[in-house]
Amino acid sequence: MTSLMRVAYAALELYSPERDPAEIDLSDNTSRFGIPPAAAAALRSLPADSLTRYPETYAASLKQALSGYAGVPVECIATGCGSDDVIDSTIRAFGEPGDSIAIPDPSFAMIPSFARMNGMNPVLVPLDSDYGVNVESTNAVQAAITYICTPNNPTGTTIAAEAIDRIARASRGIVIVDEAYVEFATRSSADLIGRHPNIIVMRTLSKAFGLAGLRVGYAIGDPQLIAEVEKSRGPYKVSGVATAAATAALREDADWVRMRVRDTVANRDRLTRELLAREIEVAPSEANFVFAPLRDARRIAAAMRTRGVAVRPFDNLPAVSPALQRSCGAALRISVGPWDQVERALDALDEARSECA
Ligand SMILES: *Cc1c(COP(=O)(O)O)cnc(C)c1O
Repeated sequence: MTSLMRVAYAALELYSPERDPAEIDLSDNTSRFGIPPAAAAALRSLPADSLTRYPETYAASLKQALSGYAGVPVECIATGCGSDDVIDSTIRAFGEPGDSIAIPDPSFAMIPSFARMNGMNPVLVPLDSDYGVNVESTNAVQAAITYICTPNNPTGTTIAAEAIDRIARASRGIVIVDEAYVEFATRSSADLIGRHPNIIVMRTLSKAFGLAGLRVGYAIGDPQLIAEVEKSRGPYKVSGVATAAATAALREDADWVRMRVRDTVANRDRLTRELLAREIEVAPSEANFVFAPLRDARRIAAAMRTRGVAVRPFDNLPAVSPALQRSCGAALRISVGPWDQVERALDALDEARSECA
């Protein structure tokens, strides 16, 4: 059978994070604050017979709503089945098989897979000791595509606009800036597109908007590049159900989302202080999660899980920072929800640490 298979797929594995239900799930950075109210209402009032027809080919009404929300013209927006799909389409649109894609490490674990799925060669570039992107090493790759995630998953830290600026200026290819967590951050990189039309910014409704199950993501960029992304993406990628709920949320729930973001940021900073008080190191986060390098993270996460709390452990991360050196490349990523859930996580963490000590 292996003779039937593509060589590029040999090293690929199915994505399989631990997804058993947990009473308190702070493992995947989706929202713990519930569904935006206008989205819920739109779903309840959706005429079921609309499902006999195909949705809009390239999600025109969703793009209209995104244009209003993000403040950019519709021709600068492409959508897709989650930003995963938009990133994959973008890689396919601009990378020839065999080309390199520069990816910071550690960063979003899906990107090397998308690179291989498209026959490209992922080149991992270690982050600096303060989790900044190493501009010289990145530029030295001379990649067809450079991926940057800010705030970065899993570290929660941001990449300086000045660094993105220098990478975009030096790059002969495109620069993907993944802003899945931008709503929780103090600034966006979207304004860099004006100066560097080779930048494409990726966003999603899966995090701050609390609509991960809908699978809606979008890209913002120069209209000529956006047209290529849409060719690569293909028609009918956003379902009619998703279009109805997402457009309602974007038009009517922006203030609701802002309030939840405000709570999340306050709880994130409180959680950071609680962890520091326990002498656990925490990277400065501008996302809806915190990243805490910690030895034995996997065992601690397993012990927390027996107490009904799921968080995301990492091990074998590159020891780029002093904290990751001390933790031997292990870390916990804890998503931030309502404070009662975070408190449950802290209690479980305290018990798990005394058990694992
Ligand atoms: C969660 C996440 C996404 C979003 O993926 P969707 O496919 O839109 O759900 C994209 N990039 C990063 C870095 C993420 O953490």
